[in-house]
Amino acid sequence: MSTPLLEVKNLVKYFPIRTGVLRRVTGQVRAVDDVSFTINKGETLGLVGESGCGKTTVSRTLLRLIPATSGQVLFDGAPVLSANRAQQKAFRRKMQIIFQDPYASLDPRRTVAESIAEGLVIHGVGSRDEQQVKLQAIMEKVGLSPSLLERFPHEFSGGQRQRIGIARALIMEPELLVLDEPVSALDVSIQAQVLNLLIQLQRDLGLTYLFVAHNLAVVEYVSTRIGIMYLGKMVELAPRADVFARPFHPYTKALKAAVPVPRPTAHRDRIVLEGDVPSPSNPPSGCRFHPRCWMATDICKTHEPALEEKAPGRWAACHFWDKV
Ligand code: SF4
Repeated sequence: MSTPLLEVKNLVKYFPIRTGVLRRVTGQVRAVDDVSFTINKGETLGLVGESGCGKTTVSRTLLRLIPATSGQVLFDGAPVLSANRAQQKAFRRKMQIIFQDPYASLDPRRTVAESIAEGLVIHGVGSRDEQQVKLQAIMEKVGLSPSLLERFPHEFSGGQRQRIGIARALIMEPELLVLDEPVSALDVSIQAQVLNLLIQLQRDLGLTYLFVAHNLAVVEYVSTRIGIMYLGKMVELAPRADVFARPFHPYTKALKAAVPVPRPTAHRDRIVLEGDVPSPSNPPSGCRFHPRCWMATDICKTHEPALEEKAPGRWAACHFWDKV
């Protein structure tokens, strides 16, 4: 049986809406609304959804980059959200994040060596000589020459800068990497190189990934299981092959239909989602997807479907999951 490395239970993150001179709270943006999932050791969970679905907020909340409203996060069985400062420092080493924009996450005034070694210095890991040895080794691991260590970020291409970002995270020897749209700012020709590097590193180092992206094709390439989010809710969670063979949620089916296929003559469902994602400050009643769902009936407008296990390992939140 697989062992969970990360368990997220009923995670909620609301952002207050403040208006008027007195900045009174007049509403809540329900960015993440009761989201639960686990990630087993050594697997990649892909978290997908349109912009504003809450996937990035989930990743930042579970790392405590922003405070959660409620819920529980367990890392290797230990609570993360209630950890004290010392415990939190230990979690920070084990759980690292890689951001979408590698340029913005690197200080332009620091050399690559200074940027990558920052975590080692903060956590007091090793002597200066030992840190140098680690720096050289990690550069090679991410496919960059150690001779580039004294250069500055602007001297590198986007793909190289993302490799520096990966090196910066890996030098702390984490167990979990949260990858927040790690290739979406890169040219398409470079994306595959970085994805292949991440897959190779996972195999070599036994890493566990939470891979956040809006692009289902990218997530398909790297994931063991896929979680689909819509308007702050997890609507489907299943092994990758099952999601692509037969989705249990109409929204997943629509995302899948939007993935480009290499053979234009191949049969595919044509689904065009009408309208934009509604505001998370005032989500639709019942099933949040009902205003855009071509299968919606009256019950969908009044009764919110729970995320339930419909088949072994396959979770979906839809009243008509068996007819999708
Ligand atoms: Fe569509 Fe109804 Fe299923 Fe929601 S519950 S996804 S509205 S069919």
